[in-house]
Amino acid sequence: MEQEAPLHMVDLKGQYAHIQDDIDQAVLDVVKSGAFIQGPAVKDFTKALATWLGSTDADPIHVIPCANGTDALQAAFMALGLEPGDEVITPSFTYIATVEVIQLLRLTPIMVDVDPDTFTMDPEAVAAAITPRTKAILPVHLYGQCADMTALNALAEAHGLFVVEDTAQAIGSTWNMEADAAKGAVAGTMGTIGTTSFFPSKNLGGYGDGGACFTRDADLAEQLRMICNHGSRQRYEHEMIGMNSRLDSIQAAILGVKLPHLHGYNAARRAAAERYDALFADHPLITTPVRHPRSHHVFHQYTLKLGQPGDGPERRNALAEHLTMSGIPFGIYYPKPIHLQGAFTALNLPHAPLPVTEDLTNRVISLPMHTELSEAHTLQIASAVRKGLIS
Ligand SMILES: *Cc1c(COP(=O)(O)O)cnc(C)c1O
Repeated sequence: MEQEAPLHMVDLKGQYAHIQDDIDQAVLDVVKSGAFIQGPAVKDFTKALATWLGSTDADPIHVIPCANGTDALQAAFMALGLEPGDEVITPSFTYIATVEVIQLLRLTPIMVDVDPDTFTMDPEAVAAAITPRTKAILPVHLYGQCADMTALNALAEAHGLFVVEDTAQAIGSTWNMEADAAKGAVAGTMGTIGTTSFFPSKNLGGYGDGGACFTRDADLAEQLRMICNHGSRQRYEHEMIGMNSRLDSIQAAILGVKLPHLHGYNAARRAAAERYDALFADHPLITTPVRHPRSHHVFHQYTLKLGQPGDGPERRNALAEHLTMSGIPFGIYYPKPIHLQGAFTALNLPHAPLPVTEDLTNRVISLPMHTELSEAHTLQIASAVRKGLIS
């Protein structure tokens, strides 16, 4: 069984093999059309994605495509018209892009702790961090699972705050809002603006960079469209300062081919996650991913938590070394929280202690997770993990 099949952290080549004819045709069509920027492929994909997210004539969801997920976040905060010094509450246990754009716009990121089970932003920590300067909450739907949007939207409503959902890792995830269950509560459509990324390894990934904003607010949608196109809605008329951030036509065409497969892709990830769960179920040192009962997890990452709270990184690092030697890919998302990154320590931003975040960075390890992961793969990976864990 050893080395039976090559293992990958993500397997874009294997996925491509199943859809090669459609992808090749779609790319070729764009090449032949010559419409590389703002072409019909972008409009078609944008429309298809809106429908996929649940947009209807009665309740439209606007999709504004852009160049990447980081730009989507930046455009979102530009559109909200916040002022320098306005505070945005966000987790520290995330990818740098989330917090980076806040600081880039001279807003003040206030980083809060996450829930030790779901690793998403802790609503109680958010409540405690709200000040008169707070203007927005920026939850991250980490690893493919929604943050507690019921609690976060309630806080936002009570304090008059915007909510921007970083959905880069969770396209297709849902959250059961109770009162709103009929709406499906799709990740990225519950707050003021949702942002996502089409980076190749994301659940809906292109073959290059891409991103998008979602909103139900037509005025914000218009602002976002202008911001992503040099502050312009009419050629050579620039009403505001914007960016050059467009989804290119070839990426849109590829994403348009992949979108109808997305539910299937997410189902394949969930099935792989369940196989892993079963293989680790009885292990005293492994906590498998906790599904929040209200969230539909789409497993961008399958992340184990090792040992007990307060354990240092030694066990995780020894496992990482063992996996490297055994030829098993893995990832550590994230080895260092944002508030301890050099770019942020220099700023001396105020924040409450973040013990859960710091603990998780010592104990998490993510296993290969993609749409092509077979039963043989998960068996091979799980057995290597078991062997590499020191007690
Ligand atoms: C990938 C990612 C981003 C950034 O997306 P890019 O398309 O790479 O710019 C932002 N936030 C989170 C949580 C991500 O995982």
